[in-house]
Amino acid sequence: MKAAVLFESKKPMQIAELDQSEPKTGEVRVKMSAAGICASDHHVMTGDNPTLMPIVLGHEGAGVVETVGPGVSSVKVGDRCVLSFVPNCGHCRSCRTGLSNICDTNRLTGTRQYDGTFRLRTPDGTEVHQFAKLGVFAESIVVPQQACYPIPDDVPMDVAALIGCSVATGVGGVINQPNMRAGMTVAVIGTGGVGLNALQGARLMNASKVIAVDIFDHKLEFAYKFGATHIINSKEQDPVYAIQEMTDGGVDFAFDTFGHKITTEQAYKATRKGGTTVVVGLAPDGMTAEIPLVELVRNQKTLVGSYYGSASPHETFGKLLEFYRQGRIDVGGLVTRKYKLHEINEAYDALDRGEDGRGVIIFN
Ligand SMILES: [Zn+2]
Ligand SMILES: [Zn+2]
Repeated sequence: MKAAVLFESKKPMQIAELDQSEPKTGEVRVKMSAAGICASDHHVMTGDNPTLMPIVLGHEGAGVVETVGPGVSSVKVGDRCVLSFVPNCGHCRSCRTGLSNICDTNRLTGTRQYDGTFRLRTPDGTEVHQFAKLGVFAESIVVPQQACYPIPDDVPMDVAALIGCSVATGVGGVINQPNMRAGMTVAVIGTGGVGLNALQGARLMNASKVIAVDIFDHKLEFAYKFGATHIINSKEQDPVYAIQEMTDGGVDFAFDTFGHKITTEQAYKATRKGGTTVVVGLAPDGMTAEIPLVELVRNQKTLVGSYYGSASPHETFGKLLEFYRQGRIDVGGLVTRKYKLHEINEAYDALDRGEDGRGVIIFN
């Protein structure tokens, strides 16, 4: 089985032949069909979000169930699936309270399977981690059955892959906000894969103004296709001032889909009195932002994080598939570049350069 393996940060991934064990109880083997090029993997490659290595990265994917282990009941061989990067345990406190997107057991076991062991080894016997228990930059993966969400035959696999991360995180992070109502004003900082989907989420929620902020004009142009009604290049003008001007004092909801001290502070300042700032993007480990506390209180603002759509990933997937099949969200249009597995490093170079849309690895 071939996979792209990261042995060291700041070095290219290597395509390597790995030994893969059979699925254990409750696990399945999935033959990969499509895998998205997401910034969260890039943060591991650059060392901004360190993890254990060697590791197979990739957490946005879709594939077909090829083998089922003992006791598997939720999927069968041949099922086409969206993959969840939080295959949740179902019985921890977070799962019990409906927040399976932040499952405690999943977080504790991390890049190993639920029994604490590995399914991948190099030929010399070194154990290899699977990012988010998935590691979709591989020809096949052994994962918990809960990672698999079966989909209808009419959903293309590149679309299904994107639903597994950027669409769930972006659209879900907007539509699952409890206080969002029709006619509200929304700003989205960052127009990468998640940002474009946050724009689509705002369009679904009938936002009256949807303001996209980025530092690249070509990405902002592209953002119009996904629901932006106004654009701001934050290299050319102060986005906080511009948003306040456009919305008479600030937006009801501001989303930081990039994840950085600068963008979170911009989102917070651009939020109106009584409004909500939502941080969706992952900043480098250890980074903090400065929030003026008196202003937080006197202007009665809300500052929240949103992970994987703020709700159960499977619940979000079901809604997104309906929206997609009814033509109410555009997922195929996000895919601007397609690659083979051996071109993975080129795919991440394109992401690093700030090219618009999403790159996807297509498997044979
Ligand atoms: Zn992702
Ligand atoms: Zn759990």
